Amino acid sequence: MTKYRIDILTIFPDFFRGPLDYGIVRRARETGLVEIDIHDLRAFTKDKHRTVDDRPFGGGEGMVLKPEPIFECLESFGDVASRELRLSPGARQSVILLSAQGRRLDQTLAAELSTLDRIVLICGRYEGVDERISEHLADREVSIGDYVLSGGELGAMVIVDTVTRLIPGAVGNQASTRQESFTEHAELTVDGPSSTCVSGGLLDYPHYTRPADFRGMAVPEVLMNGNHDQIRSWRRKTALAKTLRNRPDLLERVALTADDKELLAQIKLAQSILTQSNGKN
Ligand code: SAM
Repeated sequence: MTKYRIDILTIFPDFFRGPLDYGIVRRARETGLVEIDIHDLRAFTKDKHRTVDDRPFGGGEGMVLKPEPIFECLESFGDVASRELRLSPGARQSVILLSAQGRRLDQTLAAELSTLDRIVLICGRYEGVDERISEHLADREVSIGDYVLSGGELGAMVIVDTVTRLIPGAVGNQASTRQESFTEHAELTVDGPSSTCVSGGLLDYPHYTRPADFRGMAVPEVLMNGNHDQIRSWRRKTALAKTLRNRPDLLERVALTADDKELLAQIKLAQSILTQSNGKN
């Protein structure tokens, strides 16, 4: 078994105390599936103040993370492939700069990263990182969403979590990661009573557990009758309905079956009847 390696470069190493110590990430570390090392960029400074930032050339607001500590930290590993190799097809490593300007992280990118052997995550701070990091050191920039964080540490943690749970062996039942929201290219049907619906790029279907009646809020009857065909169909329909309501953009990309299209037509019809009757009241 090849151990998946993650290195995180940060000026706030203590930030990661805690987040790495729970749930799937903790178990993956303990079982040796993943090794996560945190590197303090200040250890790669040479002045007595351990300076990691400086004023921007050309003037303007704020400070910028200097290139030297980041280059030197990465070079100190001694075993990270050159940027050219990392950019070539079949590369097994990626050096990622966390940046609001990067490619937006999604399940497809997380799945792609989970097939590598190693990722290095560079966390920016202040106004950002000297551009030479993205031009000459990192092989990609990744954003966790269209908003600006104060630093890359939360983004790095999001990548660690999404990628780790996709590494084979990290989640007890690996099939469950194929049935989750946004999981594209998943086969549309899976055998077995617990695999009644796979996402195929939709949002996940609703989940319920005991009690069957909580303060008068009842679990849908269909989930308790043991009829797997009916459960599968209900789950697909509710996944379609939820996707239509919360993320209609996803429906453009999903390969819908004839049954899905029929279910969607029923959902839209029910919604328009509801809207009309609400309009009348
Ligand atoms: N001046 C930058 C801009 O407008 O794009 C924002 C810099 S931000 C205050 C400081 C650091 O936080 C960035 O260098 C990056 O590492 C991280 N960061 C901010 N937003 C992020 C996002 N959406 N995804 C990933 N990292 C982010």
